[in-house]
Amino acid sequence: MNKEETSIHDFDLELICEYFSALERQGPGSPEITKKALSFVDILNDGSRIADLGCGTGGQTMVLAQNAPGQITGLDLFPEFIRLFNNNAKQLDLQDRVKGIAGSMDNLPFQQEKLDLIWSEGAIYNIGFERGLKEWREFLKPGGFVAVTEATWFTGERPDEINAFWQREYPGIDTIPNKVAQMQNAGYVPVATFILPEQCWTDHFYVPQVEVQKDFLKKHAGDPTAENFIKNQRHEAELYHTYRDYYGYVFYIGKKI
Ligand code: SAH
Repeated sequence: MNKEETSIHDFDLELICEYFSALERQGPGSPEITKKALSFVDILNDGSRIADLGCGTGGQTMVLAQNAPGQITGLDLFPEFIRLFNNNAKQLDLQDRVKGIAGSMDNLPFQQEKLDLIWSEGAIYNIGFERGLKEWREFLKPGGFVAVTEATWFTGERPDEINAFWQREYPGIDTIPNKVAQMQNAGYVPVATFILPEQCWTDHFYVPQVEVQKDFLKKHAGDPTAENFIKNQRHEAELYHTYRDYYGYVFYIGKKI
């Protein structure tokens, strides 16, 4: 397999989990951007119920908890992320309002129409944007909000190399108007969309990985799978630097009608 054909999907989950556990965030984003998205949600009070799906170790969940009232449930597929998530909540003295549980976003453990807000940063791609929005809708109260980030093309056309990369990694990537139409078709009023600034990818995502990669390679010295995995991560970061005018993450905020 040559370098261009390797994908993150080729590596085993344990390796991926170990690598991303060492990072505060497992996807692009920042506290400022989480707060900005939250500013469009005007219905929350102390009785509100919020779910953060694909929460990872809880970087954005803790920001939510510090800036929104109500009870927050974080849900992630990896039990190790949830263990770290609950440690983080405790360290910030948020354990009475913030609880992490292991589970899957395609089989949610909530009751119908009980949630006021569903949050998901850098994770809905695991189920697919349109499918996730449709399936999660039934768990929201009427008038409830959804706020997700999603990989998005900024232009109608783009260079072949980056197009091929995304077709391999996530063929569901699409343009902003198409994503907004999908949100509307799924039964939401599109309330706001905005592009995450580049620092969400660089300073908050790729830069912290540089040190983690060095430690990871030291620990797994001589292991070709681990070395390939790091090569893959570095390639992804290089692609971002080259092609950041063509794609990025967009926050989509919608209200259930
Ligand atoms: N929201 C976090 C993590 C984003 S990475 C952040 O922005 O930092 C994507 C997350 O989705 C990972 O933590 C991964 O474990 C989780 N995930 C993948 N498939 C999932 C599924 N089917 N259900 C729930 N979580 C899932």
